[in-house]
Amino acid sequence: MEIFRTVAELRRWSRSLRCEEKEDARIGLVPTMGALHQGHSSLIHAARARCAHTVVSIFVNPTQFSPNEDYDRYPRSFESDCMLAQAGGADAIFAPSVEEMYPPGAPVFIEVAGLGDRLDGASRPGHFRGVATIVAKLLIAGEPDLAFFGQKDAAQVSILRRMITDLRLGVELVVCPIVREADGLALSSRNAYLIADERRQARALSRAVRCVEALAAKGERNSAVLIDAARQIFAAEPLIRVDYIALVDWATLEPVEVAAPGTLFAVAAWVGTTRLIDNAILG
Ligand code: AMP
Repeated sequence: MEIFRTVAELRRWSRSLRCEEKEDARIGLVPTMGALHQGHSSLIHAARARCAHTVVSIFVNPTQFSPNEDYDRYPRSFESDCMLAQAGGADAIFAPSVEEMYPPGAPVFIEVAGLGDRLDGASRPGHFRGVATIVAKLLIAGEPDLAFFGQKDAAQVSILRRMITDLRLGVELVVCPIVREADGLALSSRNAYLIADERRQARALSRAVRCVEALAAKGERNSAVLIDAARQIFAAEPLIRVDYIALVDWATLEPVEVAAPGTLFAVAAWVGTTRLIDNAILG
């Protein structure tokens, strides 16, 4: 497995594959911030299944963190990440420095107007601007045919879809299902922050998601009723502070009053000092 540190190295690799190989030898990119877990592995497997070559980027992107957030203490585990990526069948890792991705001088940002201020964007101002910017830079650098993202970050998917469409980047965005612990908690690099009591109460996020899915499956479509049912689950957990509970159109992230098939149910909550998210696309 190759490890690239600069955009030039990554681009050389990707272009040389295109020159050497048949037209259908597709390149897949899996963008991550490292601290890899089975959720990331599932993206690498999906990429392997659809692409001849898979590159995993590992970059803790400073521009998507607010000054008061966990950029400095975000888990970093490059050696074990490389092992996990290799075990999953990745062909290359792209692990640039901050200076490589953000050269000195006037910074350039990508902003998806409107969408970027909804859900996580409302409570984390500038977050999606940072996400859109780094993903655009990665796509331009690696020139993949397909890029793989988790439904775990459902609002991120909407924003990146819109960015790829609007900038006509010509990349296929593939969304992979949420990978969970046995008790339902969605895998996240931030789960490592949770102490025992918080870890126990964190299950409320997936319980709320399952509850709303079940009610919707039984025919309850009123958003206020569904959101209230979720809110009651969190009310029983003293260590949890809800950030948002929302039913939105997955493409526009606009709230809906009546849930329909394809509506996104999403929650974000602080469990102690750790912010976690979960969601489901209603059937
Ligand atoms: P991150 O390293 O947290 O930025 O995540 C990198 C990619 O992995 C994103 O597309 C996430 O949505 C995806 N991802 C993170 N956790 C999970 C999970 N539990 N299941 C599926 N995909 C995930």
